Amino acid sequence: LSSKLGQVFEKLTGRGALTEADVTEALREVRVALLEADVALPVVKDFIGRVKARAVGQEVIKSVTPGQMVIKIVHDELIATLGTKGTELNLSAVPPVVILMVGLQGSGKTTTSAKIAFKLKREKKKVLLASLDVYRPAAQQQLQILAGQAEVGSLPIVMGEMPVAIAKRALDMGRKEGYDVVILDTAGRLHIDQELMAEVANVRDAAKPTETLLVTDAMTGQDAVTLAREFNEKVGVTGIVLTRIDGDARGGAALSMRAVTGRPIKFLGAGEKLDALEVFHPDRIAGRILGMGDIVGLVEKAMETLDQEEAERLAKRMEKGKFDLEDMRKQFAQVKKMGDLKGILGMLPGMGKMANQLKDANIDNKMVARQEAIISSMTPAERKNPDLIKASRKKRIAAGSGMSVQDVNKLLKQYQQMADMMKKVGKLGQKGLMRHGIG
Ligand code: GDP
Ligand code: MG
Repeated sequence: LSSKLGQVFEKLTGRGALTEADVTEALREVRVALLEADVALPVVKDFIGRVKARAVGQEVIKSVTPGQMVIKIVHDELIATLGTKGTELNLSAVPPVVILMVGLQGSGKTTTSAKIAFKLKREKKKVLLASLDVYRPAAQQQLQILAGQAEVGSLPIVMGEMPVAIAKRALDMGRKEGYDVVILDTAGRLHIDQELMAEVANVRDAAKPTETLLVTDAMTGQDAVTLAREFNEKVGVTGIVLTRIDGDARGGAALSMRAVTGRPIKFLGAGEKLDALEVFHPDRIAGRILGMGDIVGLVEKAMETLDQEEAERLAKRMEKGKFDLEDMRKQFAQVKKMGDLKGILGMLPGMGKMANQLKDANIDNKMVARQEAIISSMTPAERKNPDLIKASRKKRIAAGSGMSVQDVNKLLKQYQQMADMMKKVGKLGQKGLMRHGIG
């Protein structure tokens, strides 16, 4: 009977916690999707395990099925794993800053070298391109032609010279002629071999690059793990470039390589032209890897609706002049989710002004998270009735949230200001607000 009741209740509210069975079932689909997107098997296993641990027990939001909820959690975890967007090149070294391009043959190293040179030139940097590929016929000429197209410098070709010597000559020319950046384009092999690794390591020792970018074809499947591990261990990788993202590949290699090296994905190659270099957006690649964009969109929509409802509920409480620390915490949680204070505060009557004040006070999400932590360390009774919070309780709350008593005091003061404002707003009522032009 109670489970029946539970079902009815669930139908009514659409809520409930994700059970292990819900999660396992949904993750079966996710697993297939990830493998189809060419994410390497060990990475898939590890990822699924992590999501499972996170998802079981999480609330299912209204008007969404448990399965859909899991997909959304997977999507968010994918974004988190793929890392921050737009990680720029590190050029903070004494010029000429050296960028070393490594990867397998045909992965797009030479093309990407020219693309990066082109990008940096537009950023007013003086760039020198040098090809260390002495094995493939005409490889050095290929880079020289691209350098001409990008209108950047290129190291004159000396036949018969070996890679380390070329690198040294490039640095020398870079120094003498005042270049900001020297890009060293290395040779690749069809497969990883130790000779290649040793050679690239020698070049690294001679040139001391600030950035070592591993260039990989987005089509790379299971090999991505070994590839990334080998290059990272033997040469040391600072960033990853995924090329041919303009093709059909779903780009699972991005997740594999990120998981193995922990290095950021810096750029995506999206075509053969010089300007086809994109800044990496984890959300886009996550969507592409998972291939379940419509479900993610649906859940996000439902979340927005919920936020709207929560804002309206809070507004009602405020109209009655009621506002406790629990309400404040809910507001913080929403603020954090939306990443913008003005957004949520703007929805609440009388809060437009405060939104501006908070903005001026430079309140960021990290600060909001700290304040949330303080409130979370309070007992429900304390949240309902802040007057209970005297010195000894303050100490306990501070310890529980890893903050100082001063921080707790600051939060309580802020709460008091908000509560006072709410009371005023409540007295005025909605119509009054409009008349007084506060809303
Ligand atoms: P390398 O051997 O690593 O130096 O590879 P290359 O730079 O010579 O690239 C091999 C081929 O892939 C060339 O024909 C490039 O035009 C092409 N290529 C490189 N990057 C991309 C990309 O992002 N998209 C597409 N469609 N082709 C690319
Ligand atoms: Mg090449």
